[in-house]
Amino acid sequence: MALIVQKFGGTSVANLERIRNVARRVIATKLEGNQVVVILSAMAGETDRLINMAMEATDGKPDGREYDSLVSTGEQVTVTLMAMMLTSMGHQATSLLGFQVKIHTDNTHKSARILDIDSEAISSELNKGHIVVIAGFQGITKNNDVTTLGRGGSDTSAVAVAAALKADACDIYTDVDGVYTTDPNIYDKARKLKKISYDEMLELASAGAKVLQHRSVELAKIYGVPVYVKSSFNYEDGTLVTKEDSDMEKEVVSGVTYDKNQAKVTIVRVPDKPGVASRLFSPLSDRSIVVDMIIQNASIEGYTDLTFTVGKKDVKEVRSVLDLVAREIGAERIVYDEKISKISVVGVGMKSHAGVATKMFESLAKENINIQMISTSEIKISCVIEDKYTELAVRVLHDAFGLDQER
Ligand code: ADP
Ligand code: ASP
Ligand code: MG
Repeated sequence: MALIVQKFGGTSVANLERIRNVARRVIATKLEGNQVVVILSAMAGETDRLINMAMEATDGKPDGREYDSLVSTGEQVTVTLMAMMLTSMGHQATSLLGFQVKIHTDNTHKSARILDIDSEAISSELNKGHIVVIAGFQGITKNNDVTTLGRGGSDTSAVAVAAALKADACDIYTDVDGVYTTDPNIYDKARKLKKISYDEMLELASAGAKVLQHRSVELAKIYGVPVYVKSSFNYEDGTLVTKEDSDMEKEVVSGVTYDKNQAKVTIVRVPDKPGVASRLFSPLSDRSIVVDMIIQNASIEGYTDLTFTVGKKDVKEVRSVLDLVAREIGAERIVYDEKISKISVVGVGMKSHAGVATKMFESLAKENINIQMISTSEIKISCVIEDKYTELAVRVLHDAFGLDQER
């Protein structure tokens, strides 16, 4: 008997009718002779609604512990409805919240990391012949405080549960039928990939392709969990995220992605002396604020400009910390720009090919799109541009690298 983990995202469980459709799929898998563990997100829009309330109630500064307790409730609604529905359709099911499974996490509220998962409660329900329906996105600290895993975190719950149970399959059902060369909702020439390596998927996800949360891909890679992304609305073949292998497309560029959730912070005229960068960035890392791209200009007469990006959601907190530090270190001022977006091209073949960056810069230049920041990794090049050019840049780069061509 195989053990199958199936995760369904927010759009797939957006209302009772869709939950019923998902229930039918789950039952079909059970009837094929499998044990089934289902991981669910909250109904589409629900997590946003809860977050907005937390923000409104606290002038944008909710306490992490209370925030997590609130925003995790969306998943409680869907898992309980699903378990009831499955049972009323003749297949006994049990819902489990994060604390009932014992999905242990660290104490980083709003973006906790899973430390370990106790498989006892899940196994005991499976052994009774029940379908187990687990709330995604949530965990519990050693002190019994509820945590959440960051936006899109149900993907990570699914992969972690699959790894803990040594499941035979981990299927992520969403509103698109696989991983594409770019977001198919932005460009209709996007092409579905049959397979993609963990490393490429990791770069795409961390560069903004929200089809999988990047932490879920990290875990999948570490524990060797093959992840199959497919649609909950049709029966098309999906995309397998797995180890790099010889029949995988070794394209120079295999995907283009964008991230509109970043903001740019420029600290103008910082005295250029040892210790300044650490004075600026330590208070941010102390607060678990992730800093992405960083550039420092050449120093002129002992002063330099320092520019970096952070999540838009963190700008308020960054402001409250850095305005003071900047004054203390004698910087002239700080400029915040939320009207930016990050465009990235990703591909393992980049390792052995020159000229990808040049082609990217030229393609953007042809459309008069100004590049504000650049960063590179072994298999990714990212540029920060003005956000109004996002869709145009995605299309231009997708065409420039011939990603619509079947290979
Ligand atoms: P779910 O609610 O099921 O977790 P998400 O909205 O988190 O779904 O992720 C699916 C979305 O990811 C798609 O609707 C699509 O707009 C977006 N997306 C971004 N980049 C890609 C890509 N390269 N391939 C497929 N989907 C992508
Ligand atoms: N409901 C959570 C969110 O909207 C988790 C998820 O959907 O994966 O971020
Ligand atoms: Mg998601």
